[in-house]
Amino acid sequence: MVTAGARLIVLGKQGAGKGTQAVRLSRYYVVPHISTGDTFRAAVRSGSEFGQRAKAYLDAGDLVPDEVVIGVVSERLERSDTSHRGFILDGFPRTTHQAEALAGIMAPKQLDLVVNLEVDTETVLHRLASRRVCDDCGANYSVVENPPRVNGICDVCGGEVIQRADDTEAAIRRRLELYERETAPLIDFYDQRGQLATIDAAQAPSAVTDQIVTRVAQRRSHTSPPA
Ligand code: ADP
Ligand code: ZN
Repeated sequence: MVTAGARLIVLGKQGAGKGTQAVRLSRYYVVPHISTGDTFRAAVRSGSEFGQRAKAYLDAGDLVPDEVVIGVVSERLERSDTSHRGFILDGFPRTTHQAEALAGIMAPKQLDLVVNLEVDTETVLHRLASRRVCDDCGANYSVVENPPRVNGICDVCGGEVIQRADDTEAAIRRRLELYERETAPLIDFYDQRGQLATIDAAQAPSAVTDQIVTRVAQRRSHTSPPA
């Protein structure tokens, strides 16, 4: 079956499973997965001047300034792969200002759906404490539920599996605080536009993906097909 591509945003607290779902959805719809967090971490690893400036924000759990993030994303969305088939946005938008900028960048195209992965704070704190990530390719692991086959080594690329520099207690607390203040208002923003689907993210990853795919199909059958 050939799927039609998709334009999706994945919202949710740190540890809600945005990255996991974004990877699964990008395979399902065959569209690029655009993670602003992965983009910034890659810039930090590269040691570029841009990366050196981004590192201070990331390590503290602070938001990178809107204008910087908007510039990075708009450049990415201009490339032909995303402008034709769409994208899965993971970690963007994170502020109302970013959401408004995105609408401007996309116009006249519309989003298919904004997925709100809902999970309680206690669960995400547990998930973040056990989260590990490949330092080379960004693949996600959990020491509890989904460890790499060989301890400390990435199944995908053989890179080193580490704890993220911003998965410290202080930076996690800071990110959750900023989520409530800056990002949670986006739930209302997209709900008012009739674009939001809230999904219970405490379920198994495959069940979450199935529900998202169903909601996208339902919304498409009620609105005109994407341009
Ligand atoms: P998490 O969801 O666990 O916070 P991400 O990988 O999405 O992790 O983001 C990591 C960091 O990258 C953020 O704490 C922030 O510093 C920066 N970042 C990512 N996306 C954005 C964004 N849209 N706006 C501002 N900063 C961002
Ligand atoms: Zn890897």
